[in-house]
This record gives sequence, structure tokens and C-alpha cells, in this order.
Amino acid sequence: MLTIQNYVKANTLEEAYELNQARNSRILGGMMWLRLGNARIKTAIDLSGLGLDQIEETDRVFKIGAMCTLRQLETHTGLREFFGDTMAESVRHIVGVQFRNQATVGGSIYGRYGFSDILTLFLALDTFVELYDGGTIRLSEFVKRKKDKDLLVSVIIRKSDRKVRYESIRQTKTDFPVLTCAVVTGVVNGKETWYVSVGARPMHAALVEKEWEISKDTAEDTIAAYAKEAAACYTYGTNMRGSAAYRQHLAEVLIARAIRSILTEE
Ligand SMILES: Cc1cc2nc3c(=O)[nH]c(=O)nc-3n(C[C@H](O)[C@H](O)[C@H](O)COP(=O)(O)OP(=O)(O)OC[C@H]3O[C@@H](n4cnc5c(N)ncnc54)[C@H](O)[C@@H]3O)c2cc1C
Repeated sequence: MLTIQNYVKANTLEEAYELNQARNSRILGGMMWLRLGNARIKTAIDLSGLGLDQIEETDRVFKIGAMCTLRQLETHTGLREFFGDTMAESVRHIVGVQFRNQATVGGSIYGRYGFSDILTLFLALDTFVELYDGGTIRLSEFVKRKKDKDLLVSVIIRKSDRKVRYESIRQTKTDFPVLTCAVVTGVVNGKETWYVSVGARPMHAALVEKEWEISKDTAEDTIAAYAKEAAACYTYGTNMRGSAAYRQHLAEVLIARAIRSILTEE
């Protein structure tokens, strides 16, 4: 059972960060994950008074505060206009609406969960995390770091002219995914570039970048070969939801499906 000795609603980010430096302090996100554990928390730090529950859109970025919920990602008009259904697709299988109204973006990204749908999608996009102490760094760098006592303030997605698809496979509705997959493509430094992120392998998502030139009329078996090449860049594991070989096969199928879907987009 989770136990909490002191509760503090932080008045400033600085206060939250300083309190979090003590060994048994914990930042609270939506507490959907934390509450299931057995942690003995000396000081629980509530960020809900710091205005981090907003999604700001500018000409260049979406800045998503750490306390935004997964439901906000799902229903935000600007995100839908820019990314189509993809953002909603990446969260809609996560338990249920009541759950998504509480689970936060900060808790999801900071947790770097091996099964994370959000992490898989955000990794493939042009995404940065804003840390209180560590500055603003690429999400792909953040996922490789060991967990520390920094405070995640926001997630920043740059608006670039890229096409994006998200796919996941679950054995039953609302279960953890067996595999998650995001594919993004656009012209980067004058070259057609494909970003593939595969998660729930069952380890956290990782990003592969390929300079492929794939035309609209590419044959199915050529697309399958590209997908096979990308899928082979990852390691896979076995757990109760699927074997490593099954996951690799799923990755090939989902990547191919996403590439094909992007190619047929008008
Ligand atoms: C039953 C269940 C099923 C789930 N299924 C899925 C799924 O299918 N797909 C999926 O992607 N996710 C899934 N999740 C994960 C969920 O979507 C959230 O990612 C998870 O609950 C963490 O978010 P939270 O807001 O609840 O964080 P909390 O539980 O409050 O915190 C999680 C951790 O993050 C730290 N933290 C929180 N906010 C910050 C911050 N701003 N800065 C630094 N540290 C911070 C906390 O101290 C804690 O260590 C599931 C979770 C549960 C409990």
C-alpha cells in the first residue's frame, strides 16, 4: 500500500524541485500508477497549482504542460487539426475515459514505461522535454537517461511538415499493448526521412531513423522489405503477452501498414 507522510501543494516550480531532492519525496502526477505501488513517500509534491495543465499552441510548437491529462491530448482541437486522429488513436485504448481524465502527460513521459503508447508516438515526432534543472532536451535523449530527481515541466512538439501514423496491438481491449508503433515521414535537411518508433517490445520505445525514398507506387513486397529492415533494428523480448518472434512479426506488419497508409494519403 502507498503511504504518504506529508503533502505539499507547491507554490512555485522551484519549491517543487527543491522538495523533490529529498530521497523519499515524490512528485505527484495523476497518481494512477503511483497509487498501485508500495512506496513510502515522505513528502508528496502536488504540481496542480502551477498552471501546468495547459496545451499552448504557437506557429511553431505545441507546448504540453506536464499536468495535462491524456484526455486533453485526445480532445484538443489544435492537436487534432495538426496530427489528424493520430494523437487520439495513441491514447484511446488506455483503460477508459475516467482514467485518461486523470493520468498525466508528465507521469507518462517521466515514467518511461516499457508499454507506453504516448512515449512511442512522441518519440517519432519532433519532440523535446523541458526539465526544470536539465533544460530542454530531445525526448530521444531523455528516454536513455537514468531516472533522476529532476522535474518534468512540459513536452514540446515542433510543428514540422511531417505525416504520421500510430498503430498498436492489444490482446484484449484496454489491456497493455503487445506492441506499439509510430511512423513519421517528412523532408529533413533536403532528404526524405522516415522515423520509426516501436515500443512495448516489451521494453520502452526506441527510435530508428532511415533516409528512404519511397514513392507512392512502390510495390507491396518492397514496402514489406523496408518494414522488415526497420523492425530488425530492435531487440524484442518475451512475456505473458507475446513472444519475441511474435513481436518482431507484429512490428513488420504494423510498420508496413503505416508506410502504406502514409503513401496513400492525398
Ligand atoms: C492499470 C493501468 C493501465 C495502463 N495502461 C496503459 C496503456 O495501455 N498504455 C499506456 O501508454 N499507458 C498505460 N498506463 C500508464 C498511464 O497512462 C500513465 O502513464 C501512468 O498512470 C502515469 O501517469 P500518472 O499521471 O498517473 O503519474 P503518477 O502515477 O502520478 O506518477 C508516475 C511517476 O512519474 C513521476 N512524475 C509524475 N509527474 C512528474 C513530473 N512532472 N516530473 C517528474 N516526475 C513526475 C512520479 O513521481 C512517479 O514516479 C496504464 C497505467 C495503469 C495504472
